Amino acid sequence: MQNTDLNATANCVYCLDSGQLTPEQVLLRGEHFYLCAPRGQMVEGFLVIAPYRCYNALAKAPLDVFDELRSIQNRVRRFYGDVYKIREPLFYEQGRGGGGARTDPADRFPLHAHLCSLPARVDLHALLGQRYLRLPAADAAMLPEIVCDRPYFYVEACSQSAAYVANQHEQVLEIEKSRLKPIVAELMGISERGDWRSYPGERELMEVIKNWRRHCEVQA
Ligand SMILES: [Zn+2]
Repeated sequence: MQNTDLNATANCVYCLDSGQLTPEQVLLRGEHFYLCAPRGQMVEGFLVIAPYRCYNALAKAPLDVFDELRSIQNRVRRFYGDVYKIREPLFYEQGRGGGGARTDPADRFPLHAHLCSLPARVDLHALLGQRYLRLPAADAAMLPEIVCDRPYFYVEACSQSAAYVANQHEQVLEIEKSRLKPIVAELMGISERGDWRSYPGERELMEVIKNWRRHCEVQA
C-alpha cells in the first residue's frame, strides 16, 4: 500500500510531492484539498481543486472532506463572479477511477481525483445526458453514495448537478478512457485549446495567478 502510494506520487501531477506544480500555481491550501491553476489554461481561469491524498476519484474520498470541497467551490465562485463576471461556472470531474482504475489506460499516468472549474457557462449536461445514465446529485458529497464503484462523470453547470454513468456495460471502458477537456473546448468553440500539450496557455496562467492574488487582497 505504502509502496503503491509512493510510486503514484513520483509522477502524479496532483500529488504535490511530485513537484509538477510550482508553489505559485497552488492558490489556496485547505486541510484536505488545495486549489491550483494548472497548465493548459484553455481559457484564463481554468482551476482545479484536488485532495492532497491520491484518491483515484472523488467518489473514493471519505464523507467528512466534502464540506471543505464545497467551501473551496464557493471561494472559486466568488473569484469568477468578481474577476470574470461569470455567475454560473462549470465544475466537472472525470471520475475515471470510480470503478477502481488507478492509471490512465492510454498514457499510464496515475488517476488522482480533481474537480475542474471554468469561468464559463457550458452545458455539459445536455451532451452527457444523451448518451449516459444521469444520476441527479445535490452536490459532489453524494458521489460516494450514488456512483457505487463505477467510473463516472460529475458535472455542475447551468444550476444543475448530476453524475453520469454507463448505460450499458460497453460504456464502462469508454468512460475510463474518456477525455472531457477536448469536449468542453469544442463546446466553447476553442477546440484547438483542448490539449495542454498543444495549448499550454502560459500567458493565461500568469494572468489568472495575478488576478487571484489581486482578488484575495480585495477580499482581505
Ligand atoms: Zn496523486
